Amino acid sequence: MEEKSAVSRNFIEQIIDTDLAEGKYETICTRFPPEPNGYLHIGHAKSILLNYGLAKKYGGKFNLRFDDTNPTKEKTEFVDSIIADVKWLGADFEDRLFFASNYFDQMYEAAVKLIKKGKAFVCDLSAEEIRAYRGTLTEPGKESPYRNRSIEENLELFENMKNGMYEDGAKVLRAKIDMASPNINMRDPVIYRVAHMSHHNTGDKWCIYPMYDFAHPIEDAIEGVTHSICTLEFEDHRPLYDWVVREVGYEHPPKQIEFAKLYLTNVVTGKRYIKKLVEDGIVDGWDDPRLVSIAALRRRGFTPESIQMFVDLCGISKSQSSVDYAMLEYCIREDLKMKRPRMMAVLDPVKLVIDNYPEDQIEYLDVELNLENPELGTRKVPFGRELYIDREDFMENPPKKYFRLFPGNEVRLMGAYFVKCAGMEKDEDGNVTVIHCTYDPETKSGSGFTGRKVKGTIHWVAAKTALRATVRLYENIIDESKGVYNEDGSLNLNPNSLTVLNDCPIEPAFGDAKLVTMPSRPDLTAETAGGCESAVCFARPYDSFQFVRQGYFCVDAKDSKEGALVFNRIVSLKSSFRLPKAE
Ligand code: ATP
Ligand code: MG
Repeated sequence: MEEKSAVSRNFIEQIIDTDLAEGKYETICTRFPPEPNGYLHIGHAKSILLNYGLAKKYGGKFNLRFDDTNPTKEKTEFVDSIIADVKWLGADFEDRLFFASNYFDQMYEAAVKLIKKGKAFVCDLSAEEIRAYRGTLTEPGKESPYRNRSIEENLELFENMKNGMYEDGAKVLRAKIDMASPNINMRDPVIYRVAHMSHHNTGDKWCIYPMYDFAHPIEDAIEGVTHSICTLEFEDHRPLYDWVVREVGYEHPPKQIEFAKLYLTNVVTGKRYIKKLVEDGIVDGWDDPRLVSIAALRRRGFTPESIQMFVDLCGISKSQSSVDYAMLEYCIREDLKMKRPRMMAVLDPVKLVIDNYPEDQIEYLDVELNLENPELGTRKVPFGRELYIDREDFMENPPKKYFRLFPGNEVRLMGAYFVKCAGMEKDEDGNVTVIHCTYDPETKSGSGFTGRKVKGTIHWVAAKTALRATVRLYENIIDESKGVYNEDGSLNLNPNSLTVLNDCPIEPAFGDAKLVTMPSRPDLTAETAGGCESAVCFARPYDSFQFVRQGYFCVDAKDSKEGALVFNRIVSLKSSFRLPKAE
């Protein structure tokens, strides 16, 4: 019988196993090579965790390397955000943070070496002519008239290129491979171009820049990367990757392996589209919680663990497919379920008055932070005569099987007492403004009362001690019923992607750590707790909570201010999503 671990290995691990067994490499090194031209998204997270995960599993190394060979689009802002995102995901690159631009000298030397071997030449054709000479999938290309320049002439012209003697586009350096190759990438590809542009790292030192297909294998080889993992669109570039490594003559050639990109169904990840959403003010930045950039997911309340779980569930494959967003939601629910406190908040409040409860009395009930995980601790929940409950938990004329409040019916107030509905007040338009109840002091939660049972339990917040919060509910920014794009290529936006609820009553414990006993957070003392300046705050930026019966919510790190918490709904509680059955 085959060992189980061998069976469950993905195809990349199988390649690595073979390479190690054959002694091709002693130890492995992987890398994540982003171009600093935008924010990372969930797809990049897959690549990061895949590369990092392999290095960890095999006791190898993982590098973060900025592929900053293209000076037009790159920005330092993106470098900083990418580093933050990679660290947040937990992909530890230790001291191995590299920039491809630091290898420009070596790349130049490599190009000179190719010229000396007769494997590269300076070409004066324009970009348009080069394209025309390239041929098609069915027809071979035509050789450049400059292809047979002497090595001496090429060396001189290339040096002139470097020294700024030519305008942009006047000359390029091309690899001399095979204009008749069935693989168009091998038809004398351009490897260096003239571009009089400042670079964020090297400034004005260079006016020639290497092309991606030439630079990338050199970067990998310099760093001792063994397995250079990239996405499928580079499969046809692999022969060129191997050609560069071989012709430049690296002793331990890295190996390129391709896998399928991660796509989420009905979710926008393209930089171009997100840029437009930001510019049009439809979202409030690249980290708007409706987006799936890593910064946005973090702000929405996703955790690194949930993203790791998601990536693991997606698996690694060679065939393109699209994953449902519901799977990501499943992962965050699973991750937060036992870890985070479950507290009460009322999103659509209506007042409930307990007529037989003493007017000025407030009693503090001890309630577990998470019923399924008592280790989390407890908090004090004030109870009084006037409460808020959610409007949908009351109906004047309920249908059958409605077990919540209606005239004459009794329910449990979560963690507190049974109350029985005695009547209601309405405004001129017939809207319910106050619900009247009586409570039974015998029925206190945890008192061991067994007298009778009720079918409904509802959440509530005491009016007098309530804090107020802004709560944002999100839907997909895309109207899924119509597909992602309109005919003109624009996005099919969902007008209801954001709902803002103001002044939602929430338990005071959210803002006051003194009400909380949480053994896992010894930092919660009156002196030190919280990110808030003076108030002792329990809910800090990026902290997430279950609002009982409603979903998981995260403290917005951008818009929350002291005494004015803003919560983003991460995900609702219920889902029809089921994990696919293991085969
Ligand atoms: P661009 O359109 O600008 O090329 P990019 O998403 O390819 O965008 P890179 O910075 O080149 O951006 O990507 C860095 C790495 O992330 C690459 O190795 C790339 O293959 C990988 N990657 C990008 N998108 C995905 C995705 N959807 N799923 C998995 N990996 C991805
Ligand atoms: Mg790219």
